[in-house]
Amino acid sequence: MIPPIASNFVAGESPEAALAHVEGLNDRGVAGILNLLGEHYEERPPADADADAYVDLVEAIAERGVDACVSVKSSQIGLDIGDDVFEENLARIVEAANAPAATGSAETGADGTGTFVWIDMEDHETTDVTLDAFERHAVETDGNVGVCVQANLKRTRDDLERLADLPGKVRLVKGAYDEPAEISYKKKARVDESYRDCLAYMFEAFDDGVAVGSHDPAMIEYAKELYAEHETTYEVQMLTGVRESAQFELAAEDDVKVYQYIPYGSKWFSYFYRRIRERKSNALFALRAIVGN
Ligand code: FAD
Repeated sequence: MIPPIASNFVAGESPEAALAHVEGLNDRGVAGILNLLGEHYEERPPADADADAYVDLVEAIAERGVDACVSVKSSQIGLDIGDDVFEENLARIVEAANAPAATGSAETGADGTGTFVWIDMEDHETTDVTLDAFERHAVETDGNVGVCVQANLKRTRDDLERLADLPGKVRLVKGAYDEPAEISYKKKARVDESYRDCLAYMFEAFDDGVAVGSHDPAMIEYAKELYAEHETTYEVQMLTGVRESAQFELAAEDDVKVYQYIPYGSKWFSYFYRRIRERKSNALFALRAIVGN
């Protein structure tokens, strides 16, 4: 069982718990992005099992009629074993998400059907294979998939030029991986500058499908300014347990859709540990819960 302090950041161990969490969010105007926790499998059975779980999940989303989509990590569905394993499993998930059983979902593709599938971005060695897979499925599903790109990578501004011509959505994040200095920006101020450059380009060059994956009030404010200028459809995505009151306040505004990225599953401990390590306020929150204050 997940202890109460961790359940601030993780929706539960089962898909049922995660879907119930989505229903609560939907009631408050926020949509869900469900992520089954797991990554870096070195053998095929767990990668296949997680892909199976996503197939079941996209069907459950459609059946429950909740406003939700899914987000999957490439190393979770086999990239460390081989590109072919990743591609096979991703194809199974995208196919299930676009099959008739998954139609009727509140999150729809350009043709009005299907559960939307996001592909998270992992370290820089996975960028090419992930973008290639996104491109293939974006074209095949007419835009019912999305991919994440990272502002800390120097290549990202160029990658966005390629992505601008494709259907689908692109989530811009600052980047969670410690990358080599030759290919990445290391200083926070430089990453923020790159985030702004990339975001400005996306609002200018994309028809729609801009996703702001950030908790940073400055970036969210900048997105509002860019929207006022370009009117490109956009959404804001934040994590479960991080600035949730801001998520609900933003969702009450007219011009932007808000998604909460919701991790769930039995492998919750390392995710929770990362969250409490990254910010002093989260660590204090955990400490207060432990001492019962
Ligand atoms: P930061 O630069 O960390 O913080 C800026 C400001 O935001 C802070 O000063 C504060 O005002 C506010 N803030 C940030 N965190 C908190 C907090 N915990 N509590 C209160 N205020 C806070 N990374 C990847 O590499 N690949 C992915 O696929 C990926 N997917 C993501 C999906 C989503 C929906 C989100 C939100 C993030 C994702 N990330 C991903 C992580 C991302 O790269 C960053 O590491 C992470 O979001 C921290 O950057 P930030 O923009 O939120 O703000």
